[in-house]
Amino acid sequence: MSFASLGLIDPLLKNVQRLNYQTPTPIQVKAIPAVLDGRDVMASAQTGTGKTAGFALPLLQRLVQRGPRVSSNRARVLVLVPTRELAEQVLQSFTDYGEGLDLRLMAAYGGVSINPQMMKLRKGADVLVATPGRLLDLNRQNAVQFDQIETLVLDEADRMLDLGFARELDAVFAALPAARQTLLFSATYTDEIRAMAASILRNPVDISVSPPNVTASKIRQWVVPVDKRNKPGLFMHLVDEKKWTHALVFVKTRDGADYLSAMLDEAGYAVDTIHGDKPQPARLRALERFKTGEVHMLVATDVAARGLDIDALPLVINVDLPIKAQDYVHRIGRTGRAGLSGVAVSFVCADEAPQLAAIEALIGQTLRREEVPGFEAEHRVPQTSATGQIIKKPKKPKKPKVLQAAPKAVQAIGTEPRLHGGKTVAQEVAKGGEDTSLSGPNPFSVTKSRSKPIGKPPAGSRKPADKPMGGRSKRPR
Ligand code: AMP
Repeated sequence: MSFASLGLIDPLLKNVQRLNYQTPTPIQVKAIPAVLDGRDVMASAQTGTGKTAGFALPLLQRLVQRGPRVSSNRARVLVLVPTRELAEQVLQSFTDYGEGLDLRLMAAYGGVSINPQMMKLRKGADVLVATPGRLLDLNRQNAVQFDQIETLVLDEADRMLDLGFARELDAVFAALPAARQTLLFSATYTDEIRAMAASILRNPVDISVSPPNVTASKIRQWVVPVDKRNKPGLFMHLVDEKKWTHALVFVKTRDGADYLSAMLDEAGYAVDTIHGDKPQPARLRALERFKTGEVHMLVATDVAARGLDIDALPLVINVDLPIKAQDYVHRIGRTGRAGLSGVAVSFVCADEAPQLAAIEALIGQTLRREEVPGFEAEHRVPQTSATGQIIKKPKKPKKPKVLQAAPKAVQAIGTEPRLHGGKTVAQEVAKGGEDTSLSGPNPFSVTKSRSKPIGKPPAGSRKPADKPMGGRSKRPR
């Protein structure tokens, strides 16, 4: 199968050749002819499948082959995306694929001044890539009107719903011309997505290049059970031991990202962070530096999980599991792209067992577990299964409680019994000693706490290794 056989015109074929795309990917094989035909499409496609070219190439072709030129303050193709990063990435794809075509392409998203976007829209945009909130702002200010829209593309529709754009999307759907082509792309098929599809698509071509909700098979994935407090120590240990040089690292919170990046920085790694609180130019700069290789480790929160188009990324590390199982699929979609094989390692602490179970249910497989010597989880991570269940271990029969029957003498003097040398049982146990001096059943049911440290301190870090990731702040991402 070749791009030419899909019916694409010469300028597009040249651009595809220039980008060194040899053959169309499975989603392109199915989507390109359908979109060229003007059909609605519903595609279950993860990032990395080549879905952007799957809609951008045929839409560019339709724009040059048919329809009137775009008028002032109008757009012909509207692509809605969840994040600014994805907006930039999709715009870049349209620019690359459409080089040499006389078309006006632009992106509009929040977090930056609206004025330059309003100015640009005065000349109209053949393709407008936008986040829903900013699009509605522009529409309210009459900077863009929707009467010339021919095609609506919803890219990463599930992510838009996750980010709470449902109302904005409904407002956009209501304002667009009813006679239009609609393309819906989603990495996962939830009930909400199906309901949305049913309400906005007309007799769509259903494209599914891999079974829904299954992560790319070329990715080697496993989890490392570890105590929460030892996650930073484990991370630095593995970075050092495995000689991880280029990785995208996900954490739960902004503070977690800053903390981990400070540790990497101190250990001499070129690192940057990307999270929702960072101004847009700084986020784009961090991404660019990572792409060019100036930065080796990019520490990100979920806000950045979508829209990072990084070729040939070998490694994704989830220091914290995402709250939503779908985000796991999006995160590890960064690796194993375009046929490459990748590795995704996730640290899991006992608290995260429900998230792990949800992820395994979503991807339909139980992830392999591999403990790292020196970082074994003291708080056991319960077994999970691909059916989404947490398998509880049968409880051990309780030892008979005899505390009520504690010697009267102890209650009377209100103190613990002393061992040889005058120490209490608790003092001796905390020191690591065995409470052997008490023979027979111990009437004081002292819980032994392990005195041996579980994790190693991170190499080259002055900060304590046992600070919990993500536990330092409740700030939103
Ligand atoms: P996407 O899934 O659209 O984010 O694309 C993932 C990556 O695959 C991007 O870096 C594209 O440049 C690349 N890509 C898309 N189509 C092809 C193709 N037919 N051959 C090789 N690479 C491709």
